[in-house]
Amino acid sequence: MKIFLFRSDEVSIKLVQSVFNRIGKHPGPIEFIWLEAPADEDENLSEHTREKNDYLVHGAPDYNSVKEILTWEVLFERCGKYRHEHGLTKEDVVVLFTDHENTRRFFSAWDPTGDLNFFIRTSDWEIYIESDPSYPIIYELASIPLAIAAFDSMEEAEKWGHQEPRGCVFDYCRKKAEVQLRLRTADICPDCRDLLIRRKPEPALARQIFSTFDSIRSQMLFRTRFQLTKAESVLEIDIPKRKLRFPEMGNLELSLDPRQLTVYLLFLNHPEGILFKNIYKNKEEIRTIYKHLSVTIDLAKIDNVIEAILNPVKNAMNELVSQIRAKMKLTIGAELSENYTILGERGDKFSIKINRDLVKYIND
Ligand SMILES: [Zn+2]
Repeated sequence: MKIFLFRSDEVSIKLVQSVFNRIGKHPGPIEFIWLEAPADEDENLSEHTREKNDYLVHGAPDYNSVKEILTWEVLFERCGKYRHEHGLTKEDVVVLFTDHENTRRFFSAWDPTGDLNFFIRTSDWEIYIESDPSYPIIYELASIPLAIAAFDSMEEAEKWGHQEPRGCVFDYCRKKAEVQLRLRTADICPDCRDLLIRRKPEPALARQIFSTFDSIRSQMLFRTRFQLTKAESVLEIDIPKRKLRFPEMGNLELSLDPRQLTVYLLFLNHPEGILFKNIYKNKEEIRTIYKHLSVTIDLAKIDNVIEAILNPVKNAMNELVSQIRAKMKLTIGAELSENYTILGERGDKFSIKINRDLVKYIND
């Protein structure tokens, strides 16, 4: 099943990126496709992509901050337009993300004509939940293939939906407490389970959806409890894949390019912190780390990269540190990233807070 994601202009590109990155990490027959998705950064990043990534990190301009109340017809017409423009088939699913309110005030809905068009509201979630708005959006998105598996139409789905909340994916959810309950349980009730058993969805599809739900639940729990426990998660550093992973936060992960990972590993090696202006003193250490991570064996090329990283005029070090910070924030949010990111006051030593006993290196 292919699910194509489209973002209405007023929706933050960062929000969609965060949703897309997280939903895509559960393997299975559902493929989420976002045509605007930025390519993964690598060493040969073109200037154009670099600009685009900077733009992603620093946030999109607010094209249309005035929110309108749109009818379902208008929203689904837009889905139909995207479907037509991109030559999608009848079996392809189209999902429109929009900040605009809709006349029936639904968080998400299925095109009543029966076409596989859906919209998901991306605004005002903060009124309903206390955490990162990408969670309820991921949840709504993961629920779509389940709804397609369970029902033949929006009409059928509406008839079945539970008016009394059960903490089930097919709860109606009109109030704040109900939205929170549904996210916290991230499950289905026995009636919906029996309905689904009768409809026989592909087991791999069901596994993918429930693995997404489980991951949302554990990430949200970790966050809610964090305010109390202040417990840090283990940080796994997968050297061959160049990934940082948080196993206790639903296995959230982020990729770093070899230059970014070099800088990150350097700061991990120095819990006492490093002064930016003295960074050249760590040149040999930086070279050793980079050589190990880089795909190239051309020593002259490696030296060029090291020189560029250390060049104080180009301010590359600062830029790499902010890129890492932005990726971290995008993955685990601002509050939690404080422990794992490279922080410091201008002119002072920069360091990573995390307790080094919690850092696990994976080398093969
Ligand atoms: Zn149910």
